[in-house]
Amino acid sequence: MIHNIDPHEFHNEWKPRHPAKDDIVFGFDRNNVILRSDQTFFHYGDLDSSHEYVYLFSIDDTGFFLTDIPENDRAISLNINVARTYEPRWLGFACAVAWHLYSWRRVNRFCGVCGSQMINDGKERAMRCPNCGNIVYPRINPAVIVGILSKDNKILITQYAIRHGEYRHDALVAGYCEIGESIEDCIHREVKEETGLEVTNLRFYKSQPWPFSESILFGVFCDESGGNLIKIDRKELRSAVWKARDDAFDVPGNASLTAEMIQVFRDGKVSCGE
Ligand SMILES: [Zn+2]
Repeated sequence: MIHNIDPHEFHNEWKPRHPAKDDIVFGFDRNNVILRSDQTFFHYGDLDSSHEYVYLFSIDDTGFFLTDIPENDRAISLNINVARTYEPRWLGFACAVAWHLYSWRRVNRFCGVCGSQMINDGKERAMRCPNCGNIVYPRINPAVIVGILSKDNKILITQYAIRHGEYRHDALVAGYCEIGESIEDCIHREVKEETGLEVTNLRFYKSQPWPFSESILFGVFCDESGGNLIKIDRKELRSAVWKARDDAFDVPGNASLTAEMIQVFRDGKVSCGE
């Protein structure tokens, strides 16, 4: 998965510092990341030191910073989805997390209470209003990925409706947690809404940060509780079909929790009724 970057170590503890020559600097423009002409990321040494550099996090001893890359230096601009498959993977992960922080900062330039311009808090990873003291932390949306297993040990594979953008491959039931709702309630509601099915025997598999949707994903397997026809929500899904372990699947790459959960199923490591 994208956040498994062994042997590298991700350090998100708040220890801001000034950038050094070999530290990496990300610049974004809405959903795009700005790259050098050879499709590598900028180092601090490449850029004018008079810009503002915002400390983000470190991996091993490399610091990662955010800046507004000047127009003249913008060689290549690619959709942030490039980070899903970027090699080396630890830099792809760093790019995705940096974009998550960029997106949070971009929509919090002004205080939602009094309208003043927000500043970096400095003491923690937060934006602070210098006028009224309002503090805004990075937003992380909780969401679920649900592997539903049938009594004859098939898995429910969905395909998102076109409005969800370019991901047209096999997926699992997924959705965001609503206000006032537990993860368990969210799973039952999303499965019911998208497919009409009831499920039982929820068992947590793994979680995953998924910066592309500013999310933390909770991966859960569960069992269909029987007798229900699939009635899909056409606004959410194009299709929902049961697939056996040796059926053909369309799952590109191994960056996502969804891909890993489907692989775990195909390898026979998870079964209904366990
Ligand atoms: Zn304010």
